Amino acid sequence: CFCQVTGNLDDCACDVETIDHFNNDQLFPKLQNLLESDYFRFYKVNLNKPCPFWTSSSHCGLRHCAVKPCSPVSSCFDLNQLQLSSAHPQRECVWSFVCFSDETREALLDWSKYDDEAERFCVVDDEASPDSQYVDLLLNPERFTGYKGPEAWQIWNSIYEENCFNFFLSTCLTTTLVVFAARKFYSWLDGQCVEKRAFYRLVSGLHASINIHLSARYLLDDNWFQREWGHNVTEFRQRFDSELTAGEGPKRLRNLYFLYLIELRALAKVLPFFQQPSFHLYTGRPEEDKKHKEQLLQILQLARSFPLHFDERSLFAGDEKEAAKLKEDIRLAFLNISKIMDCVDCFKCRLWGKLQTQGLGTVLKILFSERQIEALPMSSNQRPSFQLSRQEIVSLFNAFGRISTSVRELKNFRSMLAEER
Ligand code: FAD
Repeated sequence: CFCQVTGNLDDCACDVETIDHFNNDQLFPKLQNLLESDYFRFYKVNLNKPCPFWTSSSHCGLRHCAVKPCSPVSSCFDLNQLQLSSAHPQRECVWSFVCFSDETREALLDWSKYDDEAERFCVVDDEASPDSQYVDLLLNPERFTGYKGPEAWQIWNSIYEENCFNFFLSTCLTTTLVVFAARKFYSWLDGQCVEKRAFYRLVSGLHASINIHLSARYLLDDNWFQREWGHNVTEFRQRFDSELTAGEGPKRLRNLYFLYLIELRALAKVLPFFQQPSFHLYTGRPEEDKKHKEQLLQILQLARSFPLHFDERSLFAGDEKEAAKLKEDIRLAFLNISKIMDCVDCFKCRLWGKLQTQGLGTVLKILFSERQIEALPMSSNQRPSFQLSRQEIVSLFNAFGRISTSVRELKNFRSMLAEER
């Protein structure tokens, strides 16, 4: 019993095998293909923002925390041309890091014309800042880095604390008190509002996904002769085995499936946005862009065809005023979580943490914009009331790609554990 689709968070109505089959056999391979395209592999990010909450210690210093820049390209000047009288020819080289061709660079600059200032759920790094750079995600896979200990715990702790929205303090308090009075031994978590529990489950699902990735791409061997990355079943078991985690591990995996359903729901809902004739994936190569747009639409159609969609209306129910307040609270919580990401000492973890937070923020923006998406104009003359920036699109699909990969990795770990028995 992994998750539910009816709105009561702890129901057991959803069949995990249906999700596994849908993801592993249908969606995952298509998505991986798309994410390798130039449009989706380059993510612009500022990894040098200072932590706004506390003095962060080092920048980790761990070798596997480094983010690889794009391929270095050198432009060399012949100093002789400048100093004609010099007897010794000298050359001076300036190295820059280039990810893509000139046409793609121009297309990316062009894209900014389409980005709007629509409200965002996450702090968007100042793209014009000299500290922002394009990172090739394929060169920097999410995997074991060795980042751990009090610094990592402090980050997770602060993120979970964002769960305390003001809204809930006022509207949930009465419910919680009634529940406490009615049921003497009602647990703290059971007494919380459905939205607050949902928020916790999303963060916990993200946490589980990151920990699955580091167990699946663990550094198994590192010496002069070889470096080997692969599955570490012991690490996985320590984090998710029911007995070793006093029952918490399976709950965390349920939260991963919950996050999967929420993100899948957003992909299904956002289809009309990508179907607009005016929407294009610009990389400067029109034939490829057309092909990738078709692939993207196929993925979204597939997401729509999923039979057990989560009904988020039951989750964010309430009158309009309350719903608007809730939306604002969740938006602010996500803004804060994206700021907390600037306190992650390990650059590689920071990169994927920022991307996944922005992706999840975009998911919530979509779920809260149902009416605007439905009202999207089919002619390109009218200005649409719902827009997504390129950063939001790249983070949305890559973040879902991470969760989809985690669900796929669970299958691998299950078989490995079965073999061990
Ligand atoms: P942690 O995972 O640090 O968890 C701390 C405590 O939270 C646990 O003791 C447990 O009580 C609770 N907890 C654990 N999992 C969950 C869950 N799913 N739901 C609810 N509660 C939970 N490491 C890498 O090797 N590669 C990475 O790419 C990477 N990315 C990271 C990104 C971010 C944003 C952060 C904060 C950390 C990242 N880490 C990464 C570190 C990694 O997540 C762990 O923090 C680290 O491996 C130490 O693990 P731990 O066993 O001490 O417990």
